[in-house]
Amino acid sequence: MENLSDIYDRLYQEAKDIFDRNDPCRFENGLCRRERENKENGFGIEPFCCCNGKHFPSQNNEEGTHCKHFIEGSGCSVKSLSCITWICDSDYFVNKKDVQRLYEIEDEALSYGLFFPRFSKEETMESLTKIF
Ligand code: SF4
Ligand code: SF4
Repeated sequence: MENLSDIYDRLYQEAKDIFDRNDPCRFENGLCRRERENKENGFGIEPFCCCNGKHFPSQNNEEGTHCKHFIEGSGCSVKSLSCITWICDSDYFVNKKDVQRLYEIEDEALSYGLFFPRFSKEETMESLTKIF
């Protein structure tokens, strides 16, 4: 029987596979698709500057700093289920069914209490042991 850690890994892997096969962020010269579009349209890229090209804007968090898991130059350093399900624009996905599945994965993660924005898997598991 699956425990919460197994469920986390399964959902994360499925979401990651969806990202990998759709490649929504399409980095070129260090800029993601959203950043390139913003630049072309004369907007700043800051508000959409996402960590590691995938997920969750890395602009200031509550403490006024970048996410602690973000490493300049290499991006996200952890496995984060909440972040892997995030995308700035569903139109960037080739397969719309995959977008729907990402939303379902997010719902599933929420239903198991595994959805903590910007939390690593370890932090998520730790929070659960404090709650229960
Ligand atoms: S999800 Fe993040 S990295 Fe991907 S296109 Fe959007 S802002 Fe860029
Ligand atoms: S945990 Fe999320 S917000 Fe933090 S660096 Fe990783 S992907 Fe970005």
